Amino acid sequence: MTLSLEPQAIEAALAKIRFRTQAFIDGAFVPSSSGKTYVSENPGTGKKLADIASCEVEDVNRAVRVARKAFESGVWSRIKPADRKRILAKYVELLEANAMEIALLDSLDAGKPICDCVNIDIPDAIHCIHWHAELIDKLYDRVSPTGPENVALIVREPMGVIGMLVPWNFPAQMAAWKIGPALAAGNSIVLKPARQTSLSALRLAELAAEAGIPPGVFNVLPGSGTVVGRAIACHMDVDMVAFTGSTEVGRELLKYSADSNLKRVILELGGKSPQVVLADAPDLDLVAANAVNAAFWNMGENCSSGSRLIVHRRLKDALLEKIIALVKAWKVGDQLDPETRVGPLIGQGHMETVLKYIAAGRSEGARLALGGNRVLKETGGTFVEITIFDEVNNNMKIAREEIFGPVLAVLPVDSDEEAVAVANDTNYGLAASLYTRDINKAHRVARRLRAGTVSVNCYSEGDLATPFGGFKESGFFGRDKSVYAQEQYTELKTIWMQVG
Ligand code: NDP
Repeated sequence: MTLSLEPQAIEAALAKIRFRTQAFIDGAFVPSSSGKTYVSENPGTGKKLADIASCEVEDVNRAVRVARKAFESGVWSRIKPADRKRILAKYVELLEANAMEIALLDSLDAGKPICDCVNIDIPDAIHCIHWHAELIDKLYDRVSPTGPENVALIVREPMGVIGMLVPWNFPAQMAAWKIGPALAAGNSIVLKPARQTSLSALRLAELAAEAGIPPGVFNVLPGSGTVVGRAIACHMDVDMVAFTGSTEVGRELLKYSADSNLKRVILELGGKSPQVVLADAPDLDLVAANAVNAAFWNMGENCSSGSRLIVHRRLKDALLEKIIALVKAWKVGDQLDPETRVGPLIGQGHMETVLKYIAAGRSEGARLALGGNRVLKETGGTFVEITIFDEVNNNMKIAREEIFGPVLAVLPVDSDEEAVAVANDTNYGLAASLYTRDINKAHRVARRLRAGTVSVNCYSEGDLATPFGGFKESGFFGRDKSVYAQEQYTELKTIWMQVG
């Protein structure tokens, strides 16, 4: 699938765009039970995009009821694997046919650069659903070793009704990372997108229905986290909550589960990921290109953002010079301009948080090497320029807390040992990058870094076949992507039979 980034192609797709703004329950768009709506804004202009249905507890109860009914009826949960795969393949076709529209929805709603939506997010989201659909008829259950008088089957069954709570930074992609494996495994889902970014999720649900996914299997409830999200997570008839978001809300979800029906909870949370550049790092141009991407891609609004650059003191100045030269070419501005690499932050409140972190970096004594300001204020958008602090120490706020903005902290170190110690000295453990020429050292240090994904001589989250999730406070059990993701949306059952 190749989408055009020609300005005329973007204009033409924009002219045709129609926002879906109601909740999607039982295969149809419906207003919220209260009739209330909230405003979704374009963070690049501060202007209204749409009035979105603001769901309430009553809508959650209805969506869970229809999801349960669909699950128990077996229309999706018990059909032949090949039939489920066929319907999901049709879904993938429809997603591909509408990919440009979905890319635009995320770009408008979240402020994400259109080039990233078109080249990364949406192709990856669609590929994820395709990958899990393909897996449906390739996973085998097991037969356990027994005596001749018994047969014991160890089977995996869909979990039931899955609540999904996703963030605003990769709206369609984070939803797809959960929708793909959960639907492939035969579950019904109730998805709450982030309040700021509901448009693509509503379109994903509509296309699923068009592909033949039965009513009730895929429901989307826009609304606030503390009302809709909480009601889903506390519901006695939801079997599992799959969450991507902040560590703070993740903790709440564990409490909700403990206080309700002990539903399974899988959490993909925040990060403060180190990029470790050892003294024998390869080609600094390669390191710089990866470091820039790791820190500033998606405006740093990225859970696996490489926001701490831990670099051997001997290389630091040369590397920093290359990084600064590269980021100067990153255009800041309108997210719909195909040349833009840095769009607006998600909103006013978040921009103020990022600016407070920048102020903290200054007052704690880090050296501001680049940026540090809000820019393009006249557009009405929430733009912050790429910001780099040098001479950071790991006790500073900007080294310890997740900023979720285009802010890089550079921490010089004097040895491999110190680099590993600083990298691991964090509450988080989502991702890490490591740069060295020595394959033995690469393997040894990669094993010592406490993170769910360690990329060596590159910045990467792997591909669809590799699990993604965090150590420490970056996650709780769950993994997105790969066979592990699909398995986590199932329960393990033993069927013990007396025979002969
Ligand atoms: P939040 O945790 O604030 O929100 C995530 C989702 O949970 C939203 O849909 C939100 O609703 C909802 N929510 C908020 N409060 C509650 C509650 N009390 N009960 C139930 N649901 C609730 O995260 P952000 O949206 O701010 O996203 C940024 C965070 O996500 C960062 O910390 C980032 O690191 C993390 N993240 C992690 C990823 C990973 O794979 N590990 C990937 C991407 C992001 P509402 O719409 O009202 O906010």
